[in-house]
Amino acid sequence: MTSLILLAGIALTGAWLAVAPMAQTRVASRPVVYEGARIIVGDGTAPIESGVFVVQDGRFTAVGPKGAVSVPPGATRVSLAGRTVMPALVNAHVHIGYEGYTSWGAENYTPANVLDHLRREAYYGVAATQSVGSSPTDASIAFVKDQQAGKFAVASRFFFMPGMAPPNGGPDAILIKGTKALNAVYEVSTADQARTAVQGMAAKRLKHVKIWVDDRRGTYPKMTPEVYNAVIGEAHRLGMKVQAHAIQMADQKAVVRAGADVLVHTVQNEPIDEELMALLREHTPYWTTVIGLGDRSEACDGDAFVDATYPAETLREIRAKDCAPLPPTSAAREQILSNNLPKYIANGARLVLGTDAGIDARHAFGWADHHEMTRWVRSGISPMDAIVAATSRPAELIGIPDLGSVAVGKSADFLVLTANPLEDIRNTRRIDKVFLRGTALDRAAMLREFRKEGR
Ligand SMILES: [Zn+2]
Repeated sequence: MTSLILLAGIALTGAWLAVAPMAQTRVASRPVVYEGARIIVGDGTAPIESGVFVVQDGRFTAVGPKGAVSVPPGATRVSLAGRTVMPALVNAHVHIGYEGYTSWGAENYTPANVLDHLRREAYYGVAATQSVGSSPTDASIAFVKDQQAGKFAVASRFFFMPGMAPPNGGPDAILIKGTKALNAVYEVSTADQARTAVQGMAAKRLKHVKIWVDDRRGTYPKMTPEVYNAVIGEAHRLGMKVQAHAIQMADQKAVVRAGADVLVHTVQNEPIDEELMALLREHTPYWTTVIGLGDRSEACDGDAFVDATYPAETLREIRAKDCAPLPPTSAAREQILSNNLPKYIANGARLVLGTDAGIDARHAFGWADHHEMTRWVRSGISPMDAIVAATSRPAELIGIPDLGSVAVGKSADFLVLTANPLEDIRNTRRIDKVFLRGTALDRAAMLREFRKEGR
């Protein structure tokens, strides 16, 4: 066996907290050479067939085709012949902490439950997970510090951003029950309040903020242009990015025109028009589709990949109430999505993975990431583009420079698959192993933990 392991406080270079690296004694670990896999790099370049890569101290130290990588002396050799390796995923949009699988609400919001959700994401191959607009700020900052300090079991790295909304606006009818109880959303009515709130976030070294621009069919107050322009202007002045929730075409146009960095959601009720496409070409926002939550749950289908992580009681509940045949409107929705998704992308929207997991147990942490990718491909996006949008691009958006691709210097966070997802995107589910920081997860032990009843 090799000496050492360490890595508790190893520099999380992409984290938004400027935490000084912890003093530590490092002992170099023995290098491991993985040989023979097809390597999907994650940046959109052609896969490396019969690839070789070296992992040492939790990082890729060499990556290339067979013959182009020299094997360091004393290295352990592992054959991955017949396997496909791809970077671990990065999920840029969830709502963490409230889901309890047999209950839902603010009472579930504990560090242990946040960690449980991050471990579920990790189980399914997700190396970093960002909670968007619903996480209480100070508790989340404390969680990030504790995770960076190595206080928790291995899990997906936690990122979050605060949300801003008019009083009694913002999150949907489910989520708002949790965010209200925890005062998780910054409520602002005026441009001045908006700027002050953004300044407070910047003072806490936060780099992203979410806004909702949605009146939920007239039932909620909608953020005014005066307020969202102030949020976006102040955030940009302070080096922050703004994610804007908007589901109607007019609202999407408004937030893209106002300079939102990330467009959240997809117009699903009509084909997008030339004016929106022109705005996308001009502004090229990042874009999280977040459409899977609107689909029939895969927990209805008896797929072991999905079912594995559910307590039996939760599966029974979902199947009892959420598995009715789809209404006729869903065919129309499907057609609109298949029309709109490729148009967003062809016009410059930069697709990134997000799932909205945490709103409802029927669309849950980890497997929903794979569902979203499958969904994209069904609507005309290539598997390669789907993989880039689930790996290197969200890492770039969130600001995690050591994640998102299989490349020298990156954290060795990768999936070993038994089939090639470039041939069928559903093959991202054929997971043999998940490695985070160079170490394989004990997924069998994690499963036992997830399935406990009466959580
Ligand atoms: Zn959301």
